[in-house]
Amino acid sequence: MAVRRLLPLRLRRSVGPWCFIDHYGPMSVDGVTGMAVPPHPHIGLQTVTWLMAGNVLHRDSLGSEQMIRPGQLNLMTAGRGIAHAEESPLEHDPDLHGVQLWVALPDASRLAEPAFEHHGELPVASSDGLTITVLLGELAGLRSPATTFSDIVGAELAAIGNVIQPVALTPSFEHVVFVTSGAATAAGMDLAPGSMLYLPPGHERLQLAAAAGTVLMLLGGVPLGERLLMWWNFVARTPEEITAAVAGWQQGVFGEVGGYTGAPLAAPPLDVSRLARRYGARAQRESD
Ligand code: MN
Repeated sequence: MAVRRLLPLRLRRSVGPWCFIDHYGPMSVDGVTGMAVPPHPHIGLQTVTWLMAGNVLHRDSLGSEQMIRPGQLNLMTAGRGIAHAEESPLEHDPDLHGVQLWVALPDASRLAEPAFEHHGELPVASSDGLTITVLLGELAGLRSPATTFSDIVGAELAAIGNVIQPVALTPSFEHVVFVTSGAATAAGMDLAPGSMLYLPPGHERLQLAAAAGTVLMLLGGVPLGERLLMWWNFVARTPEEITAAVAGWQQGVFGEVGGYTGAPLAAPPLDVSRLARRYGARAQRESD
Protein backbone atom coordinates (compact mmCIF):
# COMPACT_ATOMS: atom_id res chain seq x y z
CA MET A 1 0.00 0.00 0.00
CA ALA A 2 1.48 3.37 -1.03
CA VAL A 3 1.44 5.63 2.02
CA ARG A 4 2.55 9.25 2.21
CA ARG A 5 3.59 10.06 5.80
CA LEU A 6 3.18 13.82 6.17
CA LEU A 7 3.53 14.04 9.96
CA PRO A 8 5.46 13.76 12.24
CA LEU A 9 8.52 15.40 10.71
CA ARG A 10 11.88 15.52 12.47
CA LEU A 11 11.60 19.25 13.13
CA ARG A 12 7.82 19.42 13.43
CA ARG A 13 6.27 16.87 15.71
CA SER A 14 2.75 18.29 15.86
CA VAL A 15 0.44 20.91 14.35
CA GLY A 16 -2.05 21.95 17.00
CA PRO A 17 -2.82 18.58 18.60
CA TRP A 18 -2.44 16.71 15.26
CA CYS A 19 0.62 14.45 15.59
CA PHE A 20 0.32 11.90 12.76
CA ILE A 21 -0.87 12.17 9.16
CA ASP A 22 -0.84 9.28 6.69
CA HIS A 23 -2.39 9.65 3.23
CA TYR A 24 -2.88 6.38 1.34
CA GLY A 25 -4.13 5.66 -2.16
CA PRO A 26 -6.07 6.03 -4.31
CA MET A 27 -5.52 2.38 -5.19
CA SER A 28 -7.44 -0.54 -6.61
CA VAL A 29 -8.30 -3.21 -4.05
CA ASP A 30 -10.47 -5.08 -6.53
CA GLY A 31 -10.12 -8.83 -5.98
CA VAL A 32 -7.34 -8.45 -3.39
CA THR A 33 -7.29 -8.37 0.44
CA GLY A 34 -7.05 -4.58 0.65
CA MET A 35 -6.47 -3.03 4.06
CA ALA A 36 -5.57 -5.50 6.79
CA VAL A 37 -4.28 -3.89 9.97
CA PRO A 38 -4.32 -6.54 12.74
CA PRO A 39 -5.27 -5.70 16.36
CA HIS A 40 -2.85 -3.23 17.94
CA PRO A 41 -2.95 -0.93 20.98
CA HIS A 42 -3.03 2.85 21.39
CA ILE A 43 -2.63 5.23 24.31
CA GLY A 44 -2.81 9.02 24.66
CA LEU A 45 -4.45 9.89 21.34
CA GLN A 46 -7.56 9.89 19.19
CA THR A 47 -7.49 8.11 15.83
CA VAL A 48 -9.41 9.76 12.99
CA THR A 49 -10.39 7.60 10.01
CA TRP A 50 -11.54 9.50 6.92
CA LEU A 51 -12.08 8.05 3.47
CA MET A 52 -12.26 9.62 0.03
CA ALA A 53 -13.15 6.26 -1.57
CA GLY A 54 -13.90 2.72 -0.46
CA ASN A 55 -14.96 1.15 2.79
CA VAL A 56 -13.14 -0.02 5.92
CA LEU A 57 -14.35 -2.07 8.88
CA HIS A 58 -13.32 -1.00 12.39
CA ARG A 59 -13.35 -3.31 15.42
CA ASP A 60 -12.05 -2.53 18.90
CA SER A 61 -11.59 -3.91 22.41
CA LEU A 62 -14.75 -2.11 23.59
CA GLY A 63 -16.74 -4.39 21.27
CA SER A 64 -17.38 -1.73 18.63
CA GLU A 65 -17.83 -2.94 15.05
CA GLN A 66 -18.36 -0.21 12.47
CA MET A 67 -18.12 0.11 8.71
CA ILE A 68 -17.04 3.51 7.41
CA ARG A 69 -17.52 5.11 4.00
CA PRO A 70 -16.61 8.50 2.46
CA GLY A 71 -18.23 11.45 4.22
CA GLN A 72 -18.35 9.61 7.54
CA LEU A 73 -16.06 9.86 10.55
CA ASN A 74 -14.69 7.13 12.79
CA LEU A 75 -13.18 8.67 15.92
CA MET A 76 -11.56 6.47 18.52
CA THR A 77 -10.40 7.98 21.79
CA ALA A 78 -7.65 5.75 23.13
CA GLY A 79 -7.21 7.63 26.40
CA ARG A 80 -5.57 5.28 28.91
CA GLY A 81 -5.71 2.39 26.43
CA ILE A 82 -7.63 0.61 23.68
CA ALA A 83 -6.90 -1.91 20.93
CA HIS A 84 -8.40 -1.95 17.45
CA ALA A 85 -8.19 -3.49 13.99
CA GLU A 86 -9.05 -1.95 10.62
CA GLU A 87 -9.55 -3.94 7.47
CA SER A 88 -11.28 -4.01 4.13
CA PRO A 89 -14.35 -6.20 4.62
CA LEU A 90 -14.41 -9.52 2.74
CA GLU A 91 -16.77 -7.98 0.14
CA HIS A 92 -15.42 -4.48 -0.43
CA ASP A 93 -15.54 -1.58 -2.84
CA PRO A 94 -12.98 -1.79 -5.70
CA ASP A 95 -11.10 1.41 -4.74
CA LEU A 96 -9.55 2.64 -1.52
CA HIS A 97 -8.36 6.17 -0.71
CA GLY A 98 -8.12 7.80 2.69
CA VAL A 99 -6.23 9.40 5.51
CA GLN A 100 -5.32 8.07 8.93
CA LEU A 101 -4.83 10.85 11.46
CA TRP A 102 -3.91 11.01 15.13
CA VAL A 103 -4.82 13.74 17.58
CA ALA A 104 -2.65 13.91 20.72
CA LEU A 105 -4.70 14.19 23.88
CA PRO A 106 -3.55 17.07 26.09
CA ASP A 107 -1.92 16.06 29.35
CA ALA A 108 -5.09 16.74 31.37
CA SER A 109 -7.18 14.34 29.24
CA ARG A 110 -4.82 11.63 28.13
CA LEU A 111 -5.93 9.11 30.75
CA ALA A 112 -9.55 9.49 29.64
CA GLU A 113 -11.79 6.44 29.37
CA PRO A 114 -11.41 4.80 25.96
CA ALA A 115 -14.34 5.44 23.63
CA PHE A 116 -15.39 5.02 20.01
CA GLU A 117 -17.83 7.12 18.01
CA HIS A 118 -19.07 7.01 14.45
CA HIS A 119 -20.61 10.03 12.76
CA GLY A 120 -22.63 9.04 9.71
CA GLU A 121 -23.33 12.67 8.90
CA LEU A 122 -21.24 15.75 9.48
CA PRO A 123 -21.91 19.44 8.90
CA VAL A 124 -21.39 20.32 5.23
CA ALA A 125 -21.72 23.64 3.41
CA SER A 126 -21.07 24.63 -0.20
CA SER A 127 -20.41 28.05 -1.65
CA ASP A 128 -18.78 29.27 -4.87
CA GLY A 129 -17.78 25.76 -5.90
CA LEU A 130 -16.19 24.74 -2.59
CA THR A 131 -17.75 22.11 -0.32
CA ILE A 132 -16.51 22.15 3.27
CA THR A 133 -17.08 19.17 5.58
CA VAL A 134 -16.07 19.67 9.20
CA LEU A 135 -14.73 16.52 10.89
CA LEU A 136 -13.54 18.04 14.16
CA GLY A 137 -13.98 21.45 15.74
CA GLU A 138 -15.37 24.39 13.79
CA LEU A 139 -14.83 26.01 10.38
CA ALA A 140 -16.87 28.39 8.24
CA GLY A 141 -19.58 28.59 10.91
CA LEU A 142 -20.03 24.80 10.94
CA ARG A 143 -19.41 22.81 14.11
CA SER A 144 -18.69 19.07 14.20
CA PRO A 145 -20.50 17.03 16.88
CA ALA A 146 -17.40 14.85 17.40
CA THR A 147 -15.75 14.73 20.84
CA THR A 148 -12.61 16.85 21.16
CA PHE A 149 -10.27 17.64 24.04
CA SER A 150 -8.52 20.80 22.82
CA ASP A 151 -9.05 23.71 20.43
CA ILE A 152 -8.85 22.01 17.05
CA VAL A 153 -10.08 22.02 13.47
CA GLY A 154 -10.17 19.22 10.92
CA ALA A 155 -11.99 19.69 7.62
CA GLU A 156 -12.17 18.44 4.05
CA LEU A 157 -12.31 21.09 1.32
CA ALA A 158 -13.61 19.72 -1.97
CA ALA A 159 -13.58 21.85 -5.13
CA ILE A 160 -16.75 21.02 -7.05
CA GLY A 161 -15.97 23.73 -9.58
CA ASN A 162 -12.87 25.82 -10.16
CA VAL A 163 -12.35 27.66 -6.88
CA ILE A 164 -10.64 30.92 -6.06
CA GLN A 165 -11.61 32.09 -2.60
CA PRO A 166 -10.37 32.67 0.92
CA VAL A 167 -11.19 30.30 3.78
CA ALA A 168 -11.45 32.02 7.15
CA LEU A 169 -9.06 30.63 9.77
CA THR A 170 -8.83 30.95 13.55
CA PRO A 171 -5.76 33.20 14.03
CA SER A 172 -4.70 31.53 17.30
CA PHE A 173 -4.39 28.19 15.45
CA GLU A 174 -1.47 26.82 13.47
CA HIS A 175 -2.57 24.83 10.39
CA VAL A 176 -1.48 22.43 7.71
CA VAL A 177 -3.08 22.04 4.30
CA PHE A 178 -2.52 19.15 1.91
CA VAL A 179 -4.09 17.83 -1.26
CA THR A 180 -5.44 14.28 -1.48
CA SER A 181 -6.60 14.57 -5.13
CA GLY A 182 -5.90 17.13 -7.84
CA ALA A 183 -3.84 20.26 -7.50
CA ALA A 184 -4.24 23.56 -5.66
CA THR A 185 -2.45 26.73 -4.76
CA ALA A 186 -2.76 27.58 -1.08
CA ALA A 187 -1.33 30.85 0.29
CA GLY A 188 0.66 31.11 -2.96
CA MET A 189 2.20 27.64 -2.72
CA ASP A 190 1.50 24.90 -5.26
CA LEU A 191 0.29 21.72 -3.62
CA ALA A 192 0.06 18.19 -5.01
CA PRO A 193 -0.43 14.90 -3.14
CA GLY A 194 2.58 14.28 -0.90
CA SER A 195 3.37 17.91 -0.11
CA MET A 196 2.00 19.94 2.76
CA LEU A 197 1.82 23.63 3.62
CA TYR A 198 2.36 24.73 7.23
CA LEU A 199 0.88 28.02 8.44
CA PRO A 200 2.00 29.33 11.83
CA PRO A 201 -0.51 31.10 14.11
CA GLY A 202 -1.55 34.59 13.02
CA HIS A 203 -3.30 33.83 9.73
CA GLU A 204 -6.87 35.07 9.44
CA ARG A 205 -7.53 33.41 6.11
CA LEU A 206 -6.18 30.88 3.65
CA GLN A 207 -6.24 32.05 0.04
CA LEU A 208 -7.16 29.04 -2.04
CA ALA A 209 -7.18 28.32 -5.77
CA ALA A 210 -8.11 24.80 -6.82
CA ALA A 211 -9.19 23.10 -10.03
CA ALA A 212 -12.52 21.29 -10.09
CA GLY A 213 -12.17 17.81 -8.56
CA THR A 214 -9.42 18.79 -6.12
CA VAL A 215 -9.79 17.62 -2.53
CA LEU A 216 -7.79 19.14 0.33
CA MET A 217 -7.54 18.55 4.06
CA LEU A 218 -7.16 21.44 6.49
CA LEU A 219 -5.97 20.50 9.99
CA GLY A 220 -5.02 22.79 12.83
CA GLY A 221 -5.35 23.90 16.40
CA VAL A 222 -3.77 25.87 19.19
CA PRO A 223 -0.10 24.81 19.40
CA LEU A 224 0.00 21.90 21.82
CA GLY A 225 2.78 23.29 24.01
CA GLU A 226 3.54 19.82 25.32
CA ARG A 227 6.46 17.62 24.42
CA LEU A 228 5.21 14.33 22.99
CA LEU A 229 7.07 11.07 23.05
CA MET A 230 5.70 8.92 20.23
CA TRP A 231 6.78 5.32 19.83
CA TRP A 232 4.97 2.72 17.71
CA ASN A 233 1.26 3.31 18.37
CA PHE A 234 1.72 5.11 21.66
CA VAL A 235 1.65 8.85 22.37
CA ALA A 236 3.19 9.47 25.77
CA ARG A 237 5.44 11.89 27.60
CA THR A 238 8.18 9.68 29.10
CA PRO A 239 10.11 6.50 28.20
CA GLU A 240 8.67 4.86 31.34
CA GLU A 241 5.12 5.22 30.00
CA ILE A 242 6.14 3.60 26.70
CA THR A 243 7.78 0.70 28.55
CA ALA A 244 4.63 0.20 30.62
CA ALA A 245 2.39 0.30 27.53
CA VAL A 246 4.50 -2.31 25.72
CA ALA A 247 4.39 -4.58 28.78
CA GLY A 248 0.63 -4.02 29.04
CA TRP A 249 0.12 -5.04 25.41
CA GLN A 250 2.22 -8.18 25.93
CA GLN A 251 0.18 -9.01 29.06
CA GLY A 252 -3.18 -8.50 27.36
CA VAL A 253 -4.40 -5.60 29.49
CA PHE A 254 -5.71 -3.69 26.43
CA GLY A 255 -8.38 -6.33 25.92
CA GLU A 256 -9.27 -8.45 22.92
CA VAL A 257 -10.45 -7.31 19.50
CA GLY A 258 -13.12 -9.81 18.49
CA GLY A 259 -13.81 -10.96 14.97
CA TYR A 260 -10.43 -10.38 13.35
CA THR A 261 -8.94 -13.44 11.65
CA GLY A 262 -5.23 -13.51 12.29
CA ALA A 263 -2.73 -12.71 15.01
CA PRO A 264 -2.47 -9.31 16.73
CA LEU A 265 0.54 -7.10 15.94
CA ALA A 266 3.57 -7.56 18.16
CA ALA A 267 5.33 -4.43 19.37
CA PRO A 268 8.72 -3.91 17.70
CA PRO A 269 11.79 -4.44 19.91
CA LEU A 270 11.99 -1.60 22.41
CA ASP A 271 15.45 -0.15 22.99
CA VAL A 272 14.79 1.76 26.20
CA SER A 273 18.18 3.48 26.35
CA ARG A 274 17.81 4.66 22.73
CA LEU A 275 14.32 5.92 23.52
CA ALA A 276 15.62 7.71 26.60
CA ARG A 277 18.40 9.31 24.51
CA ARG A 278 15.88 10.42 21.89
CA TYR A 279 13.68 11.82 24.64
CA GLY A 280 16.66 13.62 26.17
CA ALA A 281 17.83 14.97 22.81
CA ARG A 282 14.39 16.33 22.05
CA ALA A 283 14.14 17.97 25.47
CA GLN A 284 17.54 19.57 24.85
CA ARG A 285 16.60 20.80 21.36
CA GLU A 286 13.41 22.36 22.61
CA SER A 287 15.12 24.15 25.47
CA ASP A 288 17.78 25.63 23.12
MN1 MN B 1 -4.45 2.20 14.94
